[in-house]
Amino acid sequence: AGLSPIERKDCKVLMLFVEELSYSEVLFGVQFGRNLMQHLHAHLKACFVRSIDIALFERDTLVLLVYDRQDYEREDLEHVLHPRLQMDDSLHVIDLLGCLVRMSDLPDKTPAQVLGIAKSTLEQAKHDNVDFGVFSSMQLQLHQSRYSLLKDLREAIPTEQFFIHIQPKIRLSDGALVGFEVLARWRHKDGDMIPPDQFVKMAETSGLIDRLDRRVTRLACRAQMILAEHNVRAPLSVNVSGIELSRPDFVENFTELLQTEKVLPKSLEIEVTETRLIEERKAALKHLKRFKELGVRVSIDDFGAGYSSLAYLSTLDTEVLKIDRQFITRMLETKEDRQVVKMIIDLGHTLGMEVLAEGIETQDQYDALLEMECDTGQGYFMAKPMPLEQVIEWCRSRKNGS
Ligand code: C2E
Ligand code: MG
Ligand code: MG
Repeated sequence: AGLSPIERKDCKVLMLFVEELSYSEVLFGVQFGRNLMQHLHAHLKACFVRSIDIALFERDTLVLLVYDRQDYEREDLEHVLHPRLQMDDSLHVIDLLGCLVRMSDLPDKTPAQVLGIAKSTLEQAKHDNVDFGVFSSMQLQLHQSRYSLLKDLREAIPTEQFFIHIQPKIRLSDGALVGFEVLARWRHKDGDMIPPDQFVKMAETSGLIDRLDRRVTRLACRAQMILAEHNVRAPLSVNVSGIELSRPDFVENFTELLQTEKVLPKSLEIEVTETRLIEERKAALKHLKRFKELGVRVSIDDFGAGYSSLAYLSTLDTEVLKIDRQFITRMLETKEDRQVVKMIIDLGHTLGMEVLAEGIETQDQYDALLEMECDTGQGYFMAKPMPLEQVIEWCRSRKNGS
């Protein structure tokens, strides 16, 4: 706080996260942890020749204020990030996670704001799976625009800015309609469409995802009723994030919502990505079983993009396997690519699942998939995701056409 402008110019904030602390406290006791932090403190003091201040920011997070002229790069900090501590006759090599914030990049921030920025730079490094992150002013802009976008998202979810598009799913053998996927859309109040890949991830990391998906599910229920009024009866699937699958009351909340909206469980399906299922393994298995009992079909989304083991897949007992779009895109490039798709189709069938190909864009892809006995498909070739009115129109023109 009390830095002169000149001191502030050179001052750098190093924030270090000691992941090992909780771990070693559990293993060796609190006293060991305290000892570890003391040794670390001494080690860090010795690392910097010029003056530094060290403070405990959180239990397992240290803040260093470094006042020297030198500008530090990742390489200069190897001994800081991976210290070797001599403790009670034994050598402990510990791995820290760190970040660097230069005060000169933040001329008008308060100390609390600087610490907040350091903390989020550290979180970002954790998220990126690297041991060191450097804050830059470009990041500040990114950070600020992200923050305001997040605020906007929170406000947008209950409003008209937030709506759904619906994409038909088709049986390949005869072109019959077998269902729809419901996809979230956000038209920002500035008028820009923000892509789901962007706002879904944001919602997931900020705790807004439950609210987002509940809104989408509610909109899906209403769309389902309107479609039924137009004699279109096919289940709608909603995407569910793995984070939600780990909530103990997920199934209850879902079924409650359907009840309030007066929609039968079998009219709605859920899609969950393969990677997410692996991450949430245990809770997921339990929920999937409940869904089966309720008659809610479950699709494994983006299959092939993750790394699930075949053994794991066979324990899931889900109804549909959706082959990730990237495989369909590449399918006709080489013989190998085609064989991979064939393998996935056969795998799904072996496990008694329906296999759906995502992102079919051409007649050739359609024909090849049909020949490989893929059951169903979805893609721009058949129909793009559309607003409800257009879906109704699409269904009507198909009926008249055939
Ligand atoms: P996804 O569930 O795999 O959805 C399929 C994506 O492929 C959609 O992108 C769809 O518009 C796009 N697509 C469909 N056919 C074609 C095609 O022929 N060619 C190409 N190039 N693309 C095609 P979208 O709508 O951008 O959604 C991206 C992802 O965002 C979704 O992937 C899903 O994981 C997530 N998402 C969308 N809506 C929601 C939601 O309500 N909740 C959650 N949790 N996630 C959602
Ligand atoms: Mg999906
Ligand atoms: Mg998908």
